[in-house]
Amino acid sequence: MTRQITIRYTSFRGCPNCEGRGDDGSSWRPFECRRCRGRGKLVTSVEVEDSVEGVLPRSRFDFTALGEVYLLDFDEEVEVVRPKDPWG
Ligand SMILES: [Zn+2]
Repeated sequence: MTRQITIRYTSFRGCPNCEGRGDDGSSWRPFECRRCRGRGKLVTSVEVEDSVEGVLPRSRFDFTALGEVYLLDFDEEVEVVRPKDPWG
């Protein structure tokens, strides 16, 4: 069985750039907010669960406000399971 990494976003904050709208608020052709890419919120906390080691400590991964997760110190192939609708 392939080692599996499950990612969960556990907390968010409203995007300060667009105040949660996801765009620049223009009534004529609003532009998608660059900071949150139109989602209106940013990821502030992530839980990463490894099928081998269980929930990983914060030192084993890094993440961005857009929800990209980088695993640190993994030298084997893993299957990454991402949330289906993390922004819901
Ligand atoms: Zn935004």
